[in-house]
Order: sequence, then C-alpha cells, then structure tokens
Amino acid sequence: MSVKITFLGATGTVTGSKYLVESGDKRLLIDCGLFQGFKQLRLRNWSPLPVTPTDVDAVVLTHAHLDHSGYLPLLYRQGFRGHVHVTPATADLCAILLPDSGHIQEEDAAFLNRHGFTKHEPAMPLYGKHDALLSLQLLKSEKVGHTFSPIPGWKVTFSSAGHILGAASALVEVAGRRILFSGDIGRPDDMLMNPPDAPPDADTVLVESTYGNREHPHDNLIAELAPALRKAAARGGVAVVPVFAVGRAQAVLHAIAQMKARGDIPHGLPVFLDSPMAVHTTDLFQRHPEAHRLTAQELKDLKHVATMVETVEESKALSKRHGPMVILAASGMATGGRVLHHLARYLPDHRNMVILTGYQAPGTRGARLAGGETLLRMHGQDVAVHAEIVQLQSSSAHADASQLVAWFGSMKHKPDQVYVVHGEPEASDALRQRIERDLGWRALVPEHGSTWPT
Ligand SMILES: [Zn+2]
Repeated sequence: MSVKITFLGATGTVTGSKYLVESGDKRLLIDCGLFQGFKQLRLRNWSPLPVTPTDVDAVVLTHAHLDHSGYLPLLYRQGFRGHVHVTPATADLCAILLPDSGHIQEEDAAFLNRHGFTKHEPAMPLYGKHDALLSLQLLKSEKVGHTFSPIPGWKVTFSSAGHILGAASALVEVAGRRILFSGDIGRPDDMLMNPPDAPPDADTVLVESTYGNREHPHDNLIAELAPALRKAAARGGVAVVPVFAVGRAQAVLHAIAQMKARGDIPHGLPVFLDSPMAVHTTDLFQRHPEAHRLTAQELKDLKHVATMVETVEESKALSKRHGPMVILAASGMATGGRVLHHLARYLPDHRNMVILTGYQAPGTRGARLAGGETLLRMHGQDVAVHAEIVQLQSSSAHADASQLVAWFGSMKHKPDQVYVVHGEPEASDALRQRIERDLGWRALVPEHGSTWPT
C-alpha cells in the first residue's frame, strides 16, 4: 500500500504547520497550525482545506505553539471528531493557549466592528473561545517514548524535541514506511529545556529550518540582556519585552533572577510579568519537572523575581507607572495581546527600550521593529518609534543550522528523502544545500499544497 504526504502549511514560511499522511483510505494529520505574519498568509486560514475535515481519522500535534496547534478549534467546527494525540505537557499547554487564541480573535473582530475598520461588515473571528474549549475534548495524552496507534495498523512514537514544554518529534510507521516529523527542534544548550533526544531511524524525514541559514552566537542570554537592562534602567527608561508566553517568558525571568542575584542589574529594578498565560505556563513547569532543566529552587526564584499581573485593571494601571522598570508581556512577535498597549504607551519615548527575544516572523510587528521602522500601526493608529530596539540573538528556542545538521546527522541510517519545511525560503534552501553537501542525503523544499509519495 502506498503512502503519500501532502504539505498543507509551513512551506516557504514558519507558520501554518499541517502535513497530511494518507495510506489506503486512512488519513492522519500531523500538526494543525495557524498561518501568522503577512496578510496573504493569514488569509490562508480562511480557505477550506483540500481535505474534508470529517475524512481525517486522527491528528497528532508535535507541540502547543499556535502555528502548530491553533487551527484545531476550526477543524472541530468543521466537523472533525477524531482523537488529537499529544504529549501530557502539550495537552496542558493547549488548554491555556487555544481558548486564549479564540478569545483574542473574538476581541479583534469586535474591535474592528466597533471602530468601523472592516470593509466586510461584520468582521468575524476565525473561531471563538467556545470552539476552542470544545476542541480540547478531543485531546488524548500519550507519553513520550511510548508507541500508540492513532489509526488501526498505524504506529506513532513521540521523542523529546527540547524547544518548549511538551515539544516532541513524531515517528509515524505505516505500510512499512517510517516517517519522522521533527516538529520544532530546540537547542542542545537551551537554558530551560533538555537537549532534544537523538532522532530514531526513518525512511523519510521532515525537518524544520527556522534558522536553516543562521548560527547562534556563543553569547548567552545573560551576557546580552544585562547590558541592555542596565542601560535602560540608568536613563530611567521602561524596557518592554514582548515574550512568547510559553518558554521565552520563563527563560527571561530565569535570566533576570540570576542577574539580580549576581548584582548584574539593580536588585530593586521592578519587573512585571503582564501575561496571565505566561503565569499559568510557569505553573506547568512545576507540574512537569521531567520536561525541563530547572530545579524546584530555580523555579521558585523565577516566580518571585517578577510581580505577576493578572487582571486587565492591573495591566492598565502599569501604563501609569514611569521607569525604570521591566515589563514582560505576550505576544512575542507583538501580533496581539497585552504587549500592544505597552508598546503604544512606551514606544514614543527615546529613554525606553523594546527587547525582542525570539524569532520574528516576517510581516509581524516584531519584525517591523527589528527592521527599524519608525512608525508602528496598532489598533488602527500609527505610533512613533523613538524607543531603542534591541533584538536578542541568543534567546532562540530553535536549533541553529549546525545544530540541526548535527541532530539528524546522528541518525544511524541514511533516510531515502528529507523534506525541508518550516522556514523562510532562504533558510529552507540553505539547509537543503547543507544536507546534500555535508551529509550526502537527498533533500527537497516542497511547494505549498504539493503531494509526494513516500
Ligand atoms: Zn514552536
């Protein structure tokens, strides 16, 4: 029986991960992510999938980031009722991230309608919080390293991928073929996460390439962050740090706790974590001690170093404060969330600073700031950018090019075919060339919507 893969997302971009594996009349969807960034990408979220959702037998998610999980509520609304297999930590994170995603989309649509910014009345959310809550009922936890059967005759095994809490690679075995989906691969030297497990042997490999054309500097997060925070504090400025609620928020807090303990930054510098999601995610680190490197004491220190901001009123009250202080808020690429209010408030003052902590997908506000744009559009208004913009190089949750090649170069047998996915075109092609040159393996960057036999 033949097996084929259709690439429904994360080709030529880092978002929208969705891969359909078909064998006989059975279909397994690996990842179910939202497209983010440029408008032409986001519009793809509104196009119907080329497969009828009720014809999909099961879904496997590699991790909880929305570009891998955020389409699930929509799949549910379109009638999908199969199981969604995830690691236990991914299940916990989805329970936080998906309802929040639905809530943000409802709020955005309501905002557009209230202010008449929409050409097509009324603006509709892609899905709402209620759809997200319903879709959570489909989640089924599977332990890392234990083989399960999402469809009779099919086998899937998760291995740990580092990256974020619960992140996994997925090995799919069907009709005598072994297909490895890397998911997002973390760094071997990550501050929070354990190094990724060595990959199992496979005939076909799909590998991410977010940093396929880049090498991380050897500097660590503290070496980069300490001088920036000292500089902003010395001029009485506010440092706004857009953070991914899952992972980067905890890494930055862990770094700040260490810097304060060592006297690298003033001990009295006020720090606020203005993201209820990040606060809840921090609690999940305590629930899943096997999934990360932090000790119980380090987790305690990390929680105590910042004032946790829960309510909207507390968040608004923060805008009345003056520097020096540090505000961490989601989202990490400033595509939405509470960080927008802080950027609108603090960007116009040159004493302030915005510290970008991770990968900024092209088309996002984070990428615009990193690119030096002097006006940033938020909530229908242009905000002048006078604050200093700092892009950290060392805080990525993704392996760099050499680390990616080292990761799957450790496979004992050469795969028949590697598909390079989850990268901007230049990054994916650079990694493809390295795989062919350094490892002598066949590698290809697939087109969006293309189908390949495997
Ligand atoms: Zn991710």
